[in-house]
Formats: sequence, C-alpha cells, structure tokens
Amino acid sequence: MSKLVTGDGRTHIRSSLMRESLVDKRVIAKTDSEHELAILPDVTLVGIGGQSIFDRGKDAVHPIVQELADSRGKHRIIVGVGGGTRVRHTVSIAVDLGIPTGGIAQLVGAMEEANAVFLNALLARHGSIAMPRDHFWEIALYLDAGMMPIVISIPPYHFWEPPPEGGPLPVHGSDFGLFLHAEVLGMQRIIFVKDEDGLYTKDPKHHSDAKHIPYITLEELSHTMPDELILDRTLFETWATARHVKRVQIVNGLKPGMLTRALEGEDVGTVIIKEASRG
Ligand code: ADP
Ligand code: MG
Repeated sequence: MSKLVTGDGRTHIRSSLMRESLVDKRVIAKTDSEHELAILPDVTLVGIGGQSIFDRGKDAVHPIVQELADSRGKHRIIVGVGGGTRVRHTVSIAVDLGIPTGGIAQLVGAMEEANAVFLNALLARHGSIAMPRDHFWEIALYLDAGMMPIVISIPPYHFWEPPPEGGPLPVHGSDFGLFLHAEVLGMQRIIFVKDEDGLYTKDPKHHSDAKHIPYITLEELSHTMPDELILDRTLFETWATARHVKRVQIVNGLKPGMLTRALEGEDVGTVIIKEASRG
C-alpha cells in the first residue's frame, strides 16, 4: 500500500518522483524507460491526403475506398483524413478576420471532420466508423469487431495550439497529427497516401530534376532534409524522439494497387525507417 511521508511541512505519497520537480532535467531523465506500453502495436495507420487525394473527388477517392474495403479482414487499420483545399480557404478567412492561432487550429479540425464524414459515408458498408475524439477509448473495440475507425488528422491542440514564429498559422498539420495518433497508440507503421510516388529531393511538381528517394533512414534523412517536403516538417522532428513508430511510407494513391502493396509490407513509394537508436 502507498505510504504517506511527512516531516518537511508537506505531505507526500511515497514514489520515485516524491519531492521532485517535474521540470528538472535530471528527474525527467530518470523516468526514461524501454518499457513504454504499446497500446495497439499491430494496427496500421493509413493517412489519406486532403488536397492531394480527397479534393480530386471520386476518380481518386473511389479506388482507394475499394482498396481499403478489400483490406478488411487482412489488416487492422485506422484511417485518417486531412482537410484539403477548404482548410486553405478557411484559414485565409480566419487570418483576414484576425482569428488567433488556437481558433484557426479549431477551424482546421472542423474541415477535417467534414472529410471524415464524407469518407465514412463511402466506407460505412465496408465497416468503417467515424471516431470523434471523445470516443477514442473505443477504438480497440471497433477494431476487434472488424471495423475500420476513421479519425481526423489535426493534432489535439485546438485552442491550445502554441502561437508559432512569424504568422498565426498552426505549425502542427495533419501529417503530424496522424503521426501523434500512431505514436500514442504504440503503432509501428504509417502509410500516407498522396499524389506523388513518395518523397523526392525537391517538390516534383515544380522541379523536373527532383530525384525520388525509395528508401532512407530517418537518421540519413535528418542530414539531407529537403527544403520542400511532402509531409509536415514537425513529423520528422518529433519522430526523432518518438518511441514506437518504426516505419513511415508514402505511396501514390493515384496509382492503383500501391496502397494494397504497402499494406502487404512491400517497399513501394518511399519507405522511411527509424532504426533502433535508443539506448
Ligand atoms: P495533403 O493532401 O496531405 O494536404 P499536400 O498537398 O500537402 O498533401 O502534399 C503533397 C504534395 O507535396 C505533393 O503533391 C507534392 O507536390 C508536394 N511536395 C513538396 N515537396 C515534396 C517532395 N520533396 N517530395 C514529394 N512531394 C513534394
Ligand atoms: Mg499537407
């Protein structure tokens, strides 16, 4: 049973952090552990690009819906979806009106919820369920029932999105938000579905000499990080200190079968891996 400790004018419950300041670096280092619980390690997160895929409409969305439907029973999947073009539009109005960062983050989330509802309408007969964040604890239940939860991508900062440098735009975007989903649930792999074959040395839409990167470690990438990126920069920064996510793959959703092959574990598109580096 826990013991109460007194004697310094305060009452403590005996524990390894008793009397410690939780912002003390030495104390924080003591809490590092190799045994962090992986809540859903065998589940794959699939992120569907808002602008790159969703906004293209049914020509782009239907084939991906079919691949997700076909994966049922073979893979345990959580699907995430971004907000796309309407995010840009909404943010521009919000900036014009002087809405603060936290308010903008909240609005971005609302756009993504709309896309989650669209996607759920298409996937419902294949067992999807749109997950408002208040119901996240039920995710395991739905997966066990063979269903496919759809989450929004935007990180949970809402009103509490920290004000960034420069303008008021939230720096934590939908790729980063999905990364956080995967990490907190102890998931090992994420597949991002976009409209390019993966990560290039530059944006291939603007540079004909951009080179495709088929396979790279996070460590190598951190030394050669392109100035233009297909995923949020904050994702890579956070991944460096993350505990669970091992593999981030980017595939071209406009090419039939790529998502399925990635789900099967094939190295299509771009594969970025994080080697076990903690010790
Ligand atoms: P989302 O649909 O998730 O909003 P984005 O449109 O933000 O996706 O990102 C995908 C786009 O990123 C691609 O269409 C591509 O033009 C662009 N991009 C920028 N830099 C790169 C890069 N280094 N490699 C590949 N694509 C890149
Ligand atoms: Mg984006």
